[in-house]
Amino acid sequence: MVHKSKMTGKLEGIGAYNTNTKSNKFCEIMHTRKSTICGRCYSHKMLGSYRKSCVPAFERNSKAFSGVIPDHLIPTTTDAYVRFNAHGEVINHAHMLNIHNMAKHNPQSTFALWTKRVGIVRDYLKAHTKPDNLILIYSNPTIDKPIGPPRGFDKSFNNVEKGSNIKQNCTGKKCIECRVCYTVNSRPVRIVEAVK
Ligand code: SF4
Repeated sequence: MVHKSKMTGKLEGIGAYNTNTKSNKFCEIMHTRKSTICGRCYSHKMLGSYRKSCVPAFERNSKAFSGVIPDHLIPTTTDAYVRFNAHGEVINHAHMLNIHNMAKHNPQSTFALWTKRVGIVRDYLKAHTKPDNLILIYSNPTIDKPIGPPRGFDKSFNNVEKGSNIKQNCTGKKCIECRVCYTVNSRPVRIVEAVK
């Protein structure tokens, strides 16, 4: 059974299906690229210190999500808004398919996935029609170079340095009050936040 986390801080009030950043091979490689946002990964930091106790549950989710979850075990949620991978990243194609199946199984909820894994998303979109209640957000690893959503994505999420002159539309907001990333066909599609 996969575990849903109760988030705090910016994500307070949004349920999240997280996975273990520290055992994710893609995250490990990206974390060595110090000039990217992954080089300053908040999850890596938290799971190595004051959120260490979350690691076992996130690791169980990593194992569950990296194989196709049978139909009768796909989680049901009553949450209006759900985030995938507030910690962690899409592990493989099975993980992406599980996300798709969860959105289909829970049409009353809106799911938002943040990911840098363009290749997995493109492969998924070639084989499947994305459910209307699944919002795909490209998480741009490059700091201070905001871009729009790549082909196939609904939105892009970009980081800029604190004090940057680049116009920001996310800095200082709480997701449950804003909900731009959790509302289908909403504007803006290019989200910009200062690095925390
Ligand atoms: S734009 Fe709004 S919903 Fe999206 S991450 Fe920022 S605060 Fe959250």
